[in-house]
Amino acid sequence: MLTRPERDRPRRARVGAERVVVEVQLPLANEERHADVVAAAVACGVRHMVITGSTLDSTRRAIDLVRADPAVFRATAGVHPHHAGELRQDDLPHLRELLAAPEVGAAGECGLDYFRNFASHADQERAFRWQLELAVDSGKPVFLHQRDGHDAFVAILKDYLPRLAGGVAHCFTGDLRELRDCLDLGLSIGITGWICDERRGHHLRELVRTIPLDRLLVETDAPYLLPRDLQPKPAHRRNEPRFLPHVVKVIASCRGEDFATVAAATTRNALKFFGFGNALAVS
Ligand SMILES: [Zn+2]
Repeated sequence: MLTRPERDRPRRARVGAERVVVEVQLPLANEERHADVVAAAVACGVRHMVITGSTLDSTRRAIDLVRADPAVFRATAGVHPHHAGELRQDDLPHLRELLAAPEVGAAGECGLDYFRNFASHADQERAFRWQLELAVDSGKPVFLHQRDGHDAFVAILKDYLPRLAGGVAHCFTGDLRELRDCLDLGLSIGITGWICDERRGHHLRELVRTIPLDRLLVETDAPYLLPRDLQPKPAHRRNEPRFLPHVVKVIASCRGEDFATVAAATTRNALKFFGFGNALAVS
């Protein structure tokens, strides 16, 4: 874990005057590397990070990491659509309990992934509905994953939205129609380094201009999605939260705004969305 002296050390490579927030999937298995990754991110101005749960076990590990450093982290509690087939009805009381933990800022990530199809559509839709119901009961917003399943995703979400405390379409990579649907549903939009990919993400450069600044969140989705235009690239080729300022720079230039404006707004949005203001007991 990141120790307090490390965190209090002056930040030499701080970018701009603003803090930046990121949602990430840190490499939870390797504690030593985790500490390095976090220290490097903080040194680059990335002061708060969200560790997403994708199974019950990874949610438990995420909560443990938040407990060790609650000023920096929040967790999400949920089962990713890739693992939807593993979620049983018997698990729901446990998931409900995890979601209620003060370290958890949002339900998820949950949703539909009809691109990889690691679980059947029926399993994915059932797991999604279960988790939306738990999110409603918890009063916490939902961290949403969707790929190639937009229409089914919207149809399911509509049943719960009036009772949900908000949601974010995380790692949004869709087209204009999908973006409009998400905005009409009142969702926030998470943009990753996908926007830096000249092969797949070019359309996002235009679309990102139409996202209201108070609904924009920025993410790395580390360790995935290393920005393709990053120079120099790390030898290990894994994405890390320290590269978030690069993503923010690209987003700001696409929107015709300056870095500090986008960093400040997205920080504000994320702190509010994930409940960073809520005091946690430091164990
Ligand atoms: Zn995702």
